[in-house]
Amino acid sequence: MPVRVETYAGLDEAAGALAANSAARFFAGGTLLMRAINEANPSFDTLIRATDPALKEIRLEGDAIVVGAACTMNEIMAHRELAFLAPVARGIGGPAVRSAATIGGNLFAWSPFGEMTTALLALGATIRFAGHGGQVAIDEFLSNRDRYRGQIVRSVSVPRISDPSAFRFLKVTRVKPKGAALISIAVRIGRPGSGETRIAFNNMNPVPTRALAAEQALQGGSLDEASVSRAASLATDGMNPPTDALASDWYRREVAPVHLKRVLLGRT
Ligand SMILES: Cc1cc2nc3c(=O)[nH]c(=O)nc-3n(C[C@H](O)[C@H](O)[C@H](O)COP(=O)(O)OP(=O)(O)OC[C@H]3O[C@@H](n4cnc5c(N)ncnc54)[C@H](O)[C@@H]3O)c2cc1C
Repeated sequence: MPVRVETYAGLDEAAGALAANSAARFFAGGTLLMRAINEANPSFDTLIRATDPALKEIRLEGDAIVVGAACTMNEIMAHRELAFLAPVARGIGGPAVRSAATIGGNLFAWSPFGEMTTALLALGATIRFAGHGGQVAIDEFLSNRDRYRGQIVRSVSVPRISDPSAFRFLKVTRVKPKGAALISIAVRIGRPGSGETRIAFNNMNPVPTRALAAEQALQGGSLDEASVSRAASLATDGMNPPTDALASDWYRREVAPVHLKRVLLGRT
């Protein structure tokens, strides 16, 4: 089946065209969409592209960094202010994938993919849409992801991390140094006595999910052995991990608490 490509200079025009055509997909780096085209996926017949420079900007805005949705993993790795996200970006695919794969596309990637999205969930990012789409917290976006498929993500607003040790990330793979993730874990450590610690898992549910019970066990910010063990024992509460070619649901349930404990204690 032939696929039409429509290219727009303005993001708002592109957003209008996407909203008007349910058989259209927004095309970013194409690392997943080209695969779908090569497999003759019948669910879309139109690709919508936008050359708007807003999709490529990275700028500071108060306590946040606004990252254009078409920024690639390589561009994230190269940006000084985004150094805390570099280990996440570096773990995504090989060099060719990282030069094309975008942060916006990662928000819609399906299991076993989605490491950057897992990091963004732990960080408490905000998703901004083109046109009249407004913005939503990433928690809300992920809990209703299908609802947002007809909109174009313009940018992601990421809270700045001044203390690099406050953000931790682990991708657990069978193949070293890389490979698809069995699970990945991202943690934003709250300030002792005040801040909330946010823990996000990938591949433990159909979309990246916060481990709310484990977070609750860490309230107050102490990361001593006893609190961390209590939090780890609650890691799989509310999780319904898949069984796939990489691991069974049982295996994922067994290893998730072990890895979470190591991440929280800084022993990875
Ligand atoms: C060999 C290989 C290895 C990979 N390894 C990893 C890995 O280790 N970790 C990982 O997380 N992922 C991995 N991926 C998956 C993928 O490369 C990434 O998730 C990437 O970030 C997807 O971005 P993209 O720009 O290529 O998306 P595209 O293929 O262009 O689009 C994917 C989906 O997102 C939608 N979309 C894209 N941008 C927007 C936007 N701005 N607004 C609205 N919708 C949008 C598209 O319409 C489409 O539905 C891998 C892929 C391949 C082929």
